Amino acid sequence: MEKKHIDKLNSNILNYDKYYNKVSFNQKFKNYRELWDKASDFKLETKFPLQIEFELHNACNYRCSFCPYSFEKEKMPINFDLPVKEKILNFDLYKKIILEGSKNDLQAIELGYNTEPLLYKKLIPAIEYARNMGVVDIRMTTNGSKLSKDLSKELIEAGLTHISVSLDAFSKETYLEMRSSKLYEEVKQNLLDFIKIRNSKKLKFPTIRVSFVETEVNKHEKDDFIKFWENKVDLLSIQSLIQYNSTPEKLKNNKKNKEIEYNCHQPWTRVVIRSNGDIKPCCTIPGMEFNLKNSKTVGIKEFWQSSFMKGLRKDLSIGKGDKYKICKNCIESVENKNN
Ligand code: SF4
Repeated sequence: MEKKHIDKLNSNILNYDKYYNKVSFNQKFKNYRELWDKASDFKLETKFPLQIEFELHNACNYRCSFCPYSFEKEKMPINFDLPVKEKILNFDLYKKIILEGSKNDLQAIELGYNTEPLLYKKLIPAIEYARNMGVVDIRMTTNGSKLSKDLSKELIEAGLTHISVSLDAFSKETYLEMRSSKLYEEVKQNLLDFIKIRNSKKLKFPTIRVSFVETEVNKHEKDDFIKFWENKVDLLSIQSLIQYNSTPEKLKNNKKNKEIEYNCHQPWTRVVIRSNGDIKPCCTIPGMEFNLKNSKTVGIKEFWQSSFMKGLRKDLSIGKGDKYKICKNCIESVENKNN
């Protein structure tokens, strides 16, 4: 059976080759992407995560219809919403982790997780610090609503290497329905301005991605969306919407279940640091349910090389992720969407 990875199932990147050709002129970047591919294929178990994803601020200024931030508190996924005093990542803790990463071949960071990174007051110093510590790829995912021209310039100058803007629509009506925001024209313009500023500086970085989570609400706009953006950005992704509920009833008796290979490459490539310092082995919403260690008391290397993480990686590489209830539900939710 063909090997399946959760990310690859969830996201269809339309122009990955174009992106790869663009970044591979840079030898450090090329090496890092090669390491990433090997680890994703379970052929390389690194001594330290290739990427650390940071939840800088457990908050978002949007309430998108498909995101748990729009749910009532009692219906939010386990560990999704954190207590007020744990919502902002301590900058010294961030620096401690980056410093450890700089001594252990950390290649990439992602700023954002399931939250809005532009709300974090120390975002620019965070990017500058990572750049000065030698992180090769400094990535950020945003809804783009606060991406003013001035901030765009600051982000580019600070050393951001990749930005992804979640747009999900090609009209203000659909944007309002998908993202509960009237700011479609503003966000579209912000992204066009960002592209213009980067191009005017004749820079290859940050690479720019725009994404579209396809649902019944917006699918009629998909083709226009692709036509408009594909030659403007470096990466364009069309994603399936995944509802991470418990295993759907119909799947429990579905014969196809027997064919599911319970593999996942996320704990082979990354860890997540929540705003309260908790460490998670992956960046999905089900992965939040893992209650493991906290980066205030445990180093990332120690966590990565723990017997739990080694066992999880092994099981997920040989299709035995269903040993873990959280992974079983996570993978079956994805499979349900794609079968
Ligand atoms: S919950 Fe398990 S299967 Fe899902 S992304 Fe995380 S590690 Fe992978």
